[in-house]
Amino acid sequence: MKILILGVNGFIGNSLAARILQETDWEVFGMDIREDKLDMCHGNAKFHFVEGDISINKEWVEYHVKKCDVVMPLVAIATPATYVREPLKVFHLDFEENLNIVRLCVKYGKRLLFPSTSEVYGMCTDKEFNEDESHLILGPIRMQRWIYSASKQLLDRVIWAYGFQQGLKFTLFRPFNWIGPKLDELAADPEKEGSSRVVTQFISSLLLGEPIRLVDGGLQRRCFTYIDDGINCLMKIIENKDERLNGEIFNIGNPDNEATIKDLAYKLKELFMNHPATKNLDKYSEIIEVYSKEFYGEGYQDINFRVPSIKKAKTLIGWEPKVNLNTALKKTLEYYLDSNLKVEC
Ligand code: UDP
Repeated sequence: MKILILGVNGFIGNSLAARILQETDWEVFGMDIREDKLDMCHGNAKFHFVEGDISINKEWVEYHVKKCDVVMPLVAIATPATYVREPLKVFHLDFEENLNIVRLCVKYGKRLLFPSTSEVYGMCTDKEFNEDESHLILGPIRMQRWIYSASKQLLDRVIWAYGFQQGLKFTLFRPFNWIGPKLDELAADPEKEGSSRVVTQFISSLLLGEPIRLVDGGLQRRCFTYIDDGINCLMKIIENKDERLNGEIFNIGNPDNEATIKDLAYKLKELFMNHPATKNLDKYSEIIEVYSKEFYGEGYQDINFRVPSIKKAKTLIGWEPKVNLNTALKKTLEYYLDSNLKVEC
């Protein structure tokens, strides 16, 4: 099988490509604007990489959609601060550029595995979000945060419609706060608030001894999912035994790993303080509260909780997550401590 991964250097892309190359005889064709996370892939004869941009290198992309069996367009902006500050950039990349790829899959009859997002559920009040039943509830237009959710939701609907009207084979997957090594780059300047997702933002602050900031008190909750669990699920989706995953949507998350952002901050700080490499520091980050308006800007609105129902993934895919929150945080923190301390040596 030949798999095209656009955005192969990203958090999901690099980890998925490495696993495919390690465990299968599938070939991976990848494009990305960067290649710094591909150390586990480079050198493998089944890995074909080109540095490029999906919005510029369109001929390469079309040629490879035609050549491959499965297409995974993973290029997207997925950080809330950018939804608020540069909503048009998010719309352009996450919606318009990805729509082109969807249409190429239709044109060449290729199977599309598309990353939807847990954000599509927005402020849904269901205790557990169900892929086929839950309502998708977004805030007003002036709250720019929702442009990401709305862009992804419309693409979900367009992909669904191509399946319904023109027979496109697809599977949509919705990651719920995946974390792990190589998640985001650490912010060199934590004062540039919200420049990465919460776990990497907190780790940056800890490493720099700057305050950890809880937005609006930090009582909002998320379910954190370890990357290896997510990749296990994606491997089964790519495999698509008996083609039974076509036309389906799956939440990929860990409902048992729910924590408030405040809990997360204290857990990470404790892991950091007990780590052999950092336990003798004189000073550690304090944990403070900030208003979202100051942290993200006026166009921000939060999601108080989001818990995935993973019943469908359990039944149809035969998958469930295994890594608990403590282990997931520990492994993520260790990766950043290792790479950071190496740089300093
Ligand atoms: N958050 C926070 N401090 C930070 C970064 C994020 O309190 O330094 C909060 C943010 O307001 C949100 C949650 O942490 O409620 C998760 O943020 P993330 O950026 O990971 O994205 P989300 O889960 O909202 O997509």
